[in-house]
Amino acid sequence: MPIRIIFFVAATILVSASGAFSQPRTARDIHFDAVVVDTHNDVAQRMLNGEDISVLTQAGHSDLPRFRQGGVDVEMFSIWVPPEKTQRSYFDQADEQIDSVESLARRNPAAVVLARSSFDVDRAVREHKLAAMLGMEGGHPLGDAIGNLDHFYNRGVRYLTLTWNNSTSWATSAKDETNPETTLAHRGLTVFGKAVVRKMNDLGMLVDVSHVGERTFWDVIGTSTRPIIASHSSVWSLCHHRRNLKDDQLKAIAKNGGVVFINFNPAFIDSTFADKEAKMRAPHQREIDSLVRVLPGDTFTKENAIARHFAAEYLPIRPPLSVLVDHFDYVAKLIGPDHVGIGSDFDGINVTPLGMDDVTALPNLTRALLERGYSEADVKKMLGGNFLRVLKEAERH
Ligand SMILES: [Zn+2]
Repeated sequence: MPIRIIFFVAATILVSASGAFSQPRTARDIHFDAVVVDTHNDVAQRMLNGEDISVLTQAGHSDLPRFRQGGVDVEMFSIWVPPEKTQRSYFDQADEQIDSVESLARRNPAAVVLARSSFDVDRAVREHKLAAMLGMEGGHPLGDAIGNLDHFYNRGVRYLTLTWNNSTSWATSAKDETNPETTLAHRGLTVFGKAVVRKMNDLGMLVDVSHVGERTFWDVIGTSTRPIIASHSSVWSLCHHRRNLKDDQLKAIAKNGGVVFINFNPAFIDSTFADKEAKMRAPHQREIDSLVRVLPGDTFTKENAIARHFAAEYLPIRPPLSVLVDHFDYVAKLIGPDHVGIGSDFDGINVTPLGMDDVTALPNLTRALLERGYSEADVKKMLGGNFLRVLKEAERH
């Protein structure tokens, strides 16, 4: 080959190679490059009902193949005990759920690992495995024995949502604090509740204020010496729902160094959704009532089946993805992109925003955030960096 041609070929290769490097990275590249963390998913309930989520499933929003497809690196599995009275204690039921997540990891060692620390997360990311972490939703399994915190910490629980919709004996929930018909013996954290928060700080377990009432929230702010989280809450200013956080609460979380992980529930993100849903369902009420009677499972399973049954009717009232992105944007603008993340509540909600059908749609969120003008670095913080920061802060003791 004449030298001139060799030069030409070499130059062409160099130009095309450098061209490849200078091409803008797509939202998809950025999403799959980022460590993506979701701090709240209720799929453990489906596992307890006998579903195998190690394979692609038809129901719900998530399973191992779909986590991978959605680029999820860290999923916090919610350990939640329904308030209905059964023969078994809250403590035993929580243990059973932890067993189910443990067995998922044990049976699928090439795909998922039960992560207990930021060190475990880093290793799982390097090995391209899903880091499954545990967050307990509601402090009821502790009973009144603070030593039970050690038990659940030792089993891998790395955040505790102090209440669910129902209060504990030591912390009041948003639902109970805002319901004028509920008589409460106390409001906020009791002396024992404050001791629980301090012990969580000592152990390195994140304090989660999703579901708690405002009195409890401010007691936590006054007690916790570590950054706190709201694992699955959205913005009250955009949607007046008791589960959402007001501006003064958001500012307090920023001052505390904590993070708010945005919940995808249409009822929490779209102030018009509840009315639209009631109007849509009204003409179907008789059918819904009979479905509730005949469908198997608990209230949540039934509601989920009803939402699937009426999928076509839900379609026109589901909020667009932009409404969800507004919540990320609002928090990032008010208190900074260091204080917001993803707390989808997938498999804990019956309806999702359009463009966010299940966990595989998460790259759409990354694209939308980039389109709003956030830098790659800021988007990566929102996708997971902020969670890893607070986890490491909790571990430092
Ligand atoms: Zn919840």
